[in-house]
Amino acid sequence: MLNLLDLAPADAEKVLREFAVAHGHQAYRGSQVVPHLWTRPVGSFAEMTDLPAAFRELLARHFVLPRLELVTQQASTDGTRKFLFRMADGQAIETVAIPDDDRMTFCISSQAGCALQCAFCATGAMGFLRNLDVHEIAGQVRELALLDPPVKATNIVFMGMGEPLMNWKAVEHVLTILNDPKGFGIGARHITVSTVGWLPGIEALARRKEQFRLALSIHAPTDALRQTLMPVNTKFPLADVIHAAARFDRRVTFEYVMLGGVNDRNEHADQLAQLARECKAFVNLIPLHPGGAMGFTPTPPEAIAKFARRIRTLGVEVAIRKSRGMDIAAACGQLRVERLRRGAPAGTQHDRQVDVA
Ligand code: SF4
Repeated sequence: MLNLLDLAPADAEKVLREFAVAHGHQAYRGSQVVPHLWTRPVGSFAEMTDLPAAFRELLARHFVLPRLELVTQQASTDGTRKFLFRMADGQAIETVAIPDDDRMTFCISSQAGCALQCAFCATGAMGFLRNLDVHEIAGQVRELALLDPPVKATNIVFMGMGEPLMNWKAVEHVLTILNDPKGFGIGARHITVSTVGWLPGIEALARRKEQFRLALSIHAPTDALRQTLMPVNTKFPLADVIHAAARFDRRVTFEYVMLGGVNDRNEHADQLAQLARECKAFVNLIPLHPGGAMGFTPTPPEAIAKFARRIRTLGVEVAIRKSRGMDIAAACGQLRVERLRRGAPAGTQHDRQVDVA
């Protein structure tokens, strides 16, 4: 049975129109299904009540609309909500919904676990489990839209579990579903792909004609320091990542988590500003959650402010990210880690309690 949620909207519509005609219905009946996939989603064919019952039954015999099971959720006093979904094979992933004025940003996952082992990251500590399929990535947005009341995204950041550009085959289709007016209709400028600097993926993203945004997880301004925090730096050294970012002809943001006594000295600010100038990047400084990550402590707020001022003085735009969801496990991979400690869902032996902003 064909999974309609793995298809781009135009492909789904083509398949459905041909299917309708092949089964003695008018083609427009096929088109009527498409808004129910993403734009105004419903959970099953039976709920597509603008379609004749016989056609709905026919659809259910030939196609599937797989759901993600919502295992648990947490709500922060600041409105941030974190969701843990279980997929058909039992693997679990996280999605965070962050309200801010009239925006609702979803932080979505692209892999179960992650191979890249960044020193400060809960997901990295789990190891790599598997890539998510198209419907499992876009499905996080769909499932929240299916809640009562629905939670609808205005902005998407690929900053949940996993390195999205290592799952480009799926992510490139998800970008289409997110952006297409017949999908979720989210403007490309409101969709940010965050990467540690996976070069083939940056080049692939740059080839897309839509104005998707790129965020680079820099976290250290020199190869020597970055290698200790992010092993991927051995494969893709900083200079190559900066060079790729400089050629990316759209807005680039640097993500820089502030690790006390590690990457927060004046010289780091100067080096970071220099890199940012080379690719006209905007710098986002991310306070580490108060509990800190395994082996790391947060830079004090006043020191972050000083670091930011120094970067700004060097002519680079910089912001300090608001810490959201401090009272819940809103860090990458953390909710999953907590559930694992309690025995569900299954999937990894690595259950270190670590934290990333
Ligand atoms: S920070 Fe991102 S790339 Fe690094 S281990 Fe965590 S999920 Fe993977």
